[in-house]
Amino acid sequence: MSLFVERGALLDGHFLLSSGLHSPRYLQCARVLMDPRVATDLGRALAERLREALNGVQPGAVVAPALGGVLVAHEVARAFGCRGLFTERQDGVMTLRRGFVIEPDEPVVVVEDAVTTGKSTREVLDAMKVLGARVLAVGCLVDRSVGDVDFGVLRRSLLRIDVPTYPADACPLCATGSRPVKPGSRA
Ligand SMILES: [Zn+2]
Repeated sequence: MSLFVERGALLDGHFLLSSGLHSPRYLQCARVLMDPRVATDLGRALAERLREALNGVQPGAVVAPALGGVLVAHEVARAFGCRGLFTERQDGVMTLRRGFVIEPDEPVVVVEDAVTTGKSTREVLDAMKVLGARVLAVGCLVDRSVGDVDFGVLRRSLLRIDVPTYPADACPLCATGSRPVKPGSRA
């Protein structure tokens, strides 16, 4: 948390999250990941936390949803010594492109920068299922999920925070006449 504060990545205001929810706080992971040394350190730390849960199974690939997860997959893959891949939406469906290949039954880890509703992560898990990959675990730098987000696999994060989120029609900030701003990332 101190790293996020120090890097100006913890924003206060009125934000429209990629999930569609509104929030008075936003963690801009890109502000932290833009420092390559910090990104490598965070990737190593997340990989260590995941490794403890994997009982010695080595992933063949680390996969993340573009755009927010790309650097995280890259750095966690560096720590594991495996491939770092990302999925993209093609006609609205999360897809592995760019010549990336997952072998049937290949063990993979799915990562994200931040999990709120888990929508992007779930879409990557669906894409992995279609490809026949064996998903070992889900990892994220920041878990700000509210309520019950269950991916059906092991889950690890570096930072867990409670950030209030509101549906647009029940947002107290909107009620004061304020309009939310979109800090990124889903279009
Ligand atoms: Zn609002």
